[in-house]
Amino acid sequence: MKIIDTHCHLNVDDFIDKEQYIKEALENNVSAIFNNGDSFESLSEIIKLKREFPDFCHAVLGIHPEYANNGDDYLFQSLKYIEEHLSEIDAIGEIGLDYHYDKSEETKKNQEKYFREQIRFAKKHNLPIVIHSRDASYDTYKIVVEENIKKIDLHCYSSSLEIAEEYLRYSDQVYFGIGGVITFKNAKTLVSIVNNISLDHLLTETDSPYLAPVPHRGEKNESKYLPLIIKKISEIKMMNQEEASNILYNNAKRFYNVR
Ligand SMILES: [Zn+2]
Repeated sequence: MKIIDTHCHLNVDDFIDKEQYIKEALENNVSAIFNNGDSFESLSEIIKLKREFPDFCHAVLGIHPEYANNGDDYLFQSLKYIEEHLSEIDAIGEIGLDYHYDKSEETKKNQEKYFREQIRFAKKHNLPIVIHSRDASYDTYKIVVEENIKKIDLHCYSSSLEIAEEYLRYSDQVYFGIGGVITFKNAKTLVSIVNNISLDHLLTETDSPYLAPVPHRGEKNESKYLPLIIKKISEIKMMNQEEASNILYNNAKRFYNVR
């Protein structure tokens, strides 16, 4: 069994012992992780991890919507940094819209600008994107379709089955990131999404250090917990765990274009 953590943030916790984290992930069949950017500062941290652990840590760079009020120069400097490191990255992310804490029109406008600019950047360099979308399902979908970007990972997917089906009609290169939330007791909508959508369109992720699966809910999340998520997905799909795991592994390789 081989597993890829398609979305995590090993850079955010200075106190974590990276070697130990990687050792325990490998012991649990996790062979690679994709660290996703959020702030400008995170970009160089992720590149540093990739250089330090080239066989294990991969780099996805982008600016999270929570930084979208930082102005044009912040975005410009970020894209400049990303452009200088194109040969070391596999996608642009995480980018998107998040109306959870701030629903003001100005913030929405700024987030839209950051999102559209980064999508255009990804298209220019022929890279897939990793999308963060929270309480902004319709606007996210609308921008994706208007910008006409086809290869996307809707990380930690939390919208409806109807919107998921819309995405799949729009593009056959859409993937839905499934993480610890699938193991939560109240995850009825997500369970029905996993049940209804082809396994070929799902990706395994932890979003570590956030959103640890049951029975570790509330603790610090780690890539080594991914087998718990695969177990749950294979139960929903009524499939053999090994078989489900192989399909999910190949999905991740296909999405990130890794050999
Ligand atoms: Zn994330």
